[in-house]
Amino acid sequence: MSRYANKLTASIIPYTPGEQPRDQQYVKLNTNESPFPPSARAMEYMAEHMRSLNLYPDPTAEELRRAIAMHCQALKEEVVLGNGSDELLYFAFRAFGDTDRPIVSADITYGCYPVFAAANGIPYERVPLDEGFGIRPEDYDDRHGVIVIANPNAPTGRALTMAEIDRLAGAHPDDVIVVDEAYVDFGAQSVLPLTKKYDNLLVVQTFSKSRSMAGARLGFAVGDRRLIEDMERVRNSFNPYNINSMTMSLGLGTLADRNYTHANCLTTIKNRNYTVTELMKLGFKVLDSKANFVFASHPKIGGRELYLALKERGVLIRHFDQERIRDYNRISIGTKEQMDILLEKIGEIL
Ligand SMILES: *Cc1c(COP(=O)(O)O)cnc(C)c1O
Repeated sequence: MSRYANKLTASIIPYTPGEQPRDQQYVKLNTNESPFPPSARAMEYMAEHMRSLNLYPDPTAEELRRAIAMHCQALKEEVVLGNGSDELLYFAFRAFGDTDRPIVSADITYGCYPVFAAANGIPYERVPLDEGFGIRPEDYDDRHGVIVIANPNAPTGRALTMAEIDRLAGAHPDDVIVVDEAYVDFGAQSVLPLTKKYDNLLVVQTFSKSRSMAGARLGFAVGDRRLIEDMERVRNSFNPYNINSMTMSLGLGTLADRNYTHANCLTTIKNRNYTVTELMKLGFKVLDSKANFVFASHPKIGGRELYLALKERGVLIRHFDQERIRDYNRISIGTKEQMDILLEKIGEIL
């Protein structure tokens, strides 16, 4: 840090993303990426659009917003796009949080939330998960501010039902509820339909996980048009060209190829079920996951120990050095072949 860093910058503890090592080829099960390539149709669309890279992208992203709106059964005025959903979470905190409107979220959840709150000078309140690492919506009854629920939650993989989030949104008419659905396509229930019922509900999704586009950076948020107007105010005071034209065409191509996305999600769910069964046979405790990862601990080996032993054997998983979850590791679901390598190495280690 230089001596010129201002107070806010000096106070931030930045998010540490999962490692992306280049030193050797790992079986990479540490950042919840899709093991499948982007849709072939998306790549064709992108190639077609490369010729117009000399021009700025459409700052309102009309065509892609319309396509996403159609996909979500919403109007395009109810959709805002982000350079990854991380950017939308940042915009939402900036738009709705304040010194007297803290970000309220679980003690164990996505690590970007506290960082984005700090970067915006917004206080952050942690609500503990229950013993089984579940979110108890009634624990939020006396909390106010911007309530952020990752559903399914990361890194636990556990999900709330639509009825539970319905109740939560209804119980908080004066608070914005942000539901981060980064992993919703792997078996949880999306609360997109509830955005019609509640004007305080913002649903955020991403193309990074189920749609194999982590490298392209595309996320979207859906909510009441007035909420979206607020998000657009922030977006347009930051970077009206936040979605580049290559990413826009990839997004359009991916939406036009829904069978591909759907098939990949089904394969991931199948591989997850297989992995859970096999891990349990090896003596692991595995939380009930509705995501493209599982969260598991073993009575005989510490979380960090297992992570290091697997890394030595060329398999990367994610360990969080954090209270309550030190014994656990988060394991992304890859191809069946990748999961078999993981299971074989774990067998050796144990
Ligand atoms: C991966 C992830 C995101 C964001 O991903 P983007 O690539 O920025 O769209 C958001 N929330 C959670 C909980 C995630 O795990």
